[in-house]
Amino acid sequence: RPRVLSGMQPTSDSLHLGNYLGALVQWVALQETHDAFYCVVDLHAITVDVDPATLRERTRRTAAQYLAGGVDPQRSTLFVQSHVPQHAELAWVLGCITGFGEAGRMTQFKDKAGKAGSDRTTVGLFTYPVLMAADILLYQADAVPVGEDQRQHLELTRDLAIRFNGRFGEAFTVPEPFIVKETAKIYDLQDPTAKMSKSAATLSGVIDLLDEPKVTAKKIRSAVTDAEREIRYDVETKPGVSNLLSIHSALSGRPVETLEKDYAGKGYGDLKGDLADLVTTELSPFRERTLAYLDDPAALDDVLADGAAKARDVAATTLAQVYDRVGFLSAR
Ligand code: ATP
Ligand code: MG
Repeated sequence: RPRVLSGMQPTSDSLHLGNYLGALVQWVALQETHDAFYCVVDLHAITVDVDPATLRERTRRTAAQYLAGGVDPQRSTLFVQSHVPQHAELAWVLGCITGFGEAGRMTQFKDKAGKAGSDRTTVGLFTYPVLMAADILLYQADAVPVGEDQRQHLELTRDLAIRFNGRFGEAFTVPEPFIVKETAKIYDLQDPTAKMSKSAATLSGVIDLLDEPKVTAKKIRSAVTDAEREIRYDVETKPGVSNLLSIHSALSGRPVETLEKDYAGKGYGDLKGDLADLVTTELSPFRERTLAYLDDPAALDDVLADGAAKARDVAATTLAQVYDRVGFLSAR
């Protein structure tokens, strides 16, 4: 079976609809055909300021949401990144074959650093994409299901794999991005030209998966649209309406062109009302399942311990070969 790896950062109490449609739904589907590794990337989460107790809590909450979304620990390896020391170890080696200028071209770093200001921008945030490359290459992943925002990091990962293999001898599978066009970028409901993000400045445009249904419905009803009346997909001139149509289509399974016909002659209020129903119908049971998993943290930790043991086996094999190829003296 081909292998996939992906992860999300425990940077918020709840994942959002972009994480769900852009990543989690794909992860669950890929379990059918792939040997899947899914991790909570807590090492990545400390690239920005975070309180230790909050990080620990969010790590469990993120794992619980993977399970609630349908990640099945019987079939997939579900683990926490910091439980597998090889991630940080391989990141060091990869950092030493990454150009400073090459890393400096990463647009996510420029965006996040720009928002934080130079005093709060860490070296960790700068080297984040190198750690992400290590996450992927350790498991010899063939494909990486992510949103559009991660395409550039994936490209860097491929470049590093090819560079290492060329310089030191084959050690890594060169991974392909797995990006589903229709849901690759879900936009903020209040700022429909910006991607929905856990680290958004305000939460009013972010559909958190664990929001109360009432809150979700209200956020959808207040979504920014435009001054026209026509329900039509056009990202350039109608980003708000287009985003609502994309979300509707992903949840209802009806193609966007069909929805445009369904809503001919109807108003934005109709679209928003239907969408609020669709989203809350999908997310209410998800929320219940997540809360149930969180009710039993010991059981959750057991699942994560099993996953980490499996992940370490694979990661240790790759790292040993890398260390040998690089020329580190064997420790015996
Ligand atoms: P942060 O703001 O802390 O970076 P995030 O919302 O970007 O949080 P990540 O944990 O960085 O979430 O990303 C987890 C996964 O979700 C990645 O595969 C990413 O590409 C995907 N993703 C994030 N935001 C969106 C979005 N708006 N639409 C589709 N996919 C998304
Ligand atoms: Mg992100």
